[in-house]
Amino acid sequence: MGTAVYPPPLARLIASLSRLPGLGEKTATRLALHILRRPQAEVAELARTLTDVKEKIRSCSVCFNLTEADPCPLCENHSRESGILCVVEGPGDLLALEKAGGLKGKYHVLQGTLSPIDGVGPKDLRIRELLERLEKEKISEIVLAINPTTEGEATVSFLVEQIKTRRPEIRLTRIAYGIPMGGDLKYMDNWTIKMALDSRRDA
Ligand SMILES: [Zn+2]
Repeated sequence: MGTAVYPPPLARLIASLSRLPGLGEKTATRLALHILRRPQAEVAELARTLTDVKEKIRSCSVCFNLTEADPCPLCENHSRESGILCVVEGPGDLLALEKAGGLKGKYHVLQGTLSPIDGVGPKDLRIRELLERLEKEKISEIVLAINPTTEGEATVSFLVEQIKTRRPEIRLTRIAYGIPMGGDLKYMDNWTIKMALDSRRDA
């Protein structure tokens, strides 16, 4: 099998598409043939959108969220509570929290989690920038909204230690994890149940 049967430009498109996560050669071929069938203007628009996103989107120099304007609209929004800083792993987590609309503070995007196995240390994340913000901004609470994975837990421990030694007066909180709405204890893994028990509150 392979794309040798296709004319080179089409084979190249299939090869490019199959490098995208979750796309095998079969799906990539289907997409490439679909693109080929679309009107010229539509394909040109798609190509422009692809280059645009790469040229125009960058990291906010304050919170490191993805943005077109720097600082980003969230950092520039002065109606948000600047005393609360919510630390997340990536832009997707920030978006999920924003969609839920529960927090009106500011954000800091770490751009990953500590993972010694993959060679990701504190210098590879935006931790130094976070600690610098603690000096520059009046922060009273830091919400660690890091996902409860092994790497996430290691990252939280590291951050707690770093923040506590510098600014012990800042309140450190974590979002609670546990049984999701509509979940069933019988089908939960031990870790999830333990987290749910640990984060129990008054009924
Ligand atoms: Zn920002």
